[in-house]
Amino acid sequence: MSRIWLAVAARVALVAAAGMALGALFGRPATMAAAALALILARELQQLRRLQRWLRTDRLDAAPDAGGVWGDVVGMVARLHRRKQYHKRRLLRLLRELRRSTAAIPDGVVLLNPQAEILWFNRMAARLLALRARTDLGLRIDNLVRQPEFVRYLAAGTYAQPVVLRAGTSGEQYLQLHIVRYGAGQLLLLVRDVTRQEQLETMRKEFVANASHELRSPLTVIAGYLELLAGEPALDPVLAGPLQEMRRQAVRMTGIIEDLLALSRLEADAGPVEGVDVDVAQLLEQLRRDTLARSSQPPEIRLQFDSPNQLRADAALVQSAFANLLDNAAKYTPATGAISVRWWTDSAGAHLSVQDNGIGIAAEHLPRLTERFYRVDAGRSRATGGSGLGLAIVKHVMQRHGGSLAIASVEGQGSTFTCNFPPERVCAAAA
Ligand code: ADP
Repeated sequence: MSRIWLAVAARVALVAAAGMALGALFGRPATMAAAALALILARELQQLRRLQRWLRTDRLDAAPDAGGVWGDVVGMVARLHRRKQYHKRRLLRLLRELRRSTAAIPDGVVLLNPQAEILWFNRMAARLLALRARTDLGLRIDNLVRQPEFVRYLAAGTYAQPVVLRAGTSGEQYLQLHIVRYGAGQLLLLVRDVTRQEQLETMRKEFVANASHELRSPLTVIAGYLELLAGEPALDPVLAGPLQEMRRQAVRMTGIIEDLLALSRLEADAGPVEGVDVDVAQLLEQLRRDTLARSSQPPEIRLQFDSPNQLRADAALVQSAFANLLDNAAKYTPATGAISVRWWTDSAGAHLSVQDNGIGIAAEHLPRLTERFYRVDAGRSRATGGSGLGLAIVKHVMQRHGGSLAIASVEGQGSTFTCNFPPERVCAAAA
C-alpha cells in the first residue's frame, strides 16, 4: 500500500478509535465510533463534490486546493489535462501547416470518399474546377465536373493514366485530372493546368504536318527529274551509279514524308473511328500479294483464318497498319524464313498476329519500339528503306480503334506483333 493510503487508513482507524473511546465514557462505544466514521464520510463526500464541480468547469488548470488522496487525484487530472492540451496544440499546429502547404501546392487537390463525394479541396482545385466550399462539399465530383471523358474515367475505376479535359468557357483551357487511390477506398484527385503543354504539342504537330506537306512538292519534282535523267540514253555511264543512289534516297524521303503525314493525320483526329465492316481475309490476301511483289527475296507468307468474323474498322487505317507489320516481317526475315499471319476472335475481341522467324529484337528495345524514328539498327532500317515510323503508325491506328499493339520477340529467333481489337469491333461475316 502506498504511503498516502497508509495515512488514510491510519486516520480512519484513529478517528474510529477516538469515537469508540469517547463513546465508552457514555456506555455507547459503537454508536460514537459510527458517528465518527460518518463525519469522515461526510468530509470525503464534500471533497468529491468539490472535485466534481471543478471537473465540470472549463478551467481545469485552476485546480482546487485539496490534500491527501484528493490532492493526488486532482494533481493527476490536472497533469492529464495539461498533456491533452499540449497534444491538441501540436496537432492543431500540424494541421494548420498541412493546410497551408496543400494550399500552396501549384496543383489542385480534391479528397473524395469511396462514393466520389467531395470531402475537401485546396484553393487551386477550387480555381481550376470552379468549386465552392459552401455549396459543393459532400456533392459527387461528377455532378460538378461533367465532361463525358471524366465521367467515363471515374466510372472505369482504373486510374493508371490521367485524363485531359477541355475546360474554360470556350474550351481554351486544358486540365489534366489524375485519380489516385489511398486509404480504405478513398480517392485523391489531382488537377493540373496543362494548357501550355497542350498548346506546344499542337504547335509541334502543326509544324511537322506543315513541314512534311511543304517538302512533298519539291521532292516530287526532284524525283521526277531523276527518273527522267535515268532514262536519258546519252547519260555518262559514270553518273549512272550516283543517279541510281539519288533515286533510291528520293524514294526513301518520299516514304518518310508520307509516313509523317499519315501520323499527323492520325494525331490531328484523336477521336475513335466508327468504321465499316472490313473483310479481313480479303484484305490480308491482297497485302500478302503486295508484300511478295515488293520484297526482293520474300520469305514464305502463310495466312490462317480461325474466325469467319469481320472487323468494324476504318479500312484505310487498318490496311496501313497490317501492311506495315507484314512489310516489317518481310524486311527482317531472311528469304529462307517464314511469316505466319493469324486472324481470330474470342471473348476479349478480335486479334491479328504477324509472326516471323527472322532476326528478332533484344528485350531492351521492346518498350521503345513504337516511338517515332526508334530503330534497333538504324543502318539496317535505312538500307531496307525503313522510315522508323511504321510501328508508331500501327500504335496510333490501334489506339483510334480502342485497341492495342502487343509485341513479343526473341533476338535471333523471331517476333510476333499482335493487334488486339476490343469486342465491339467484331462483326459477323456478311451472308
Ligand atoms: P522501320 O521503318 O525502321 O522498319 P518501324 O517503326 O516499322 O520502322 O520499326 C521500328 C524498328 O523495329 C525497326 O527499325 C526494327 O529495328 C524493329 N522491327 C520492326 N519489326 C521487326 C521485325 N518483324 N523483326 C525484327 N525487328 C523488327
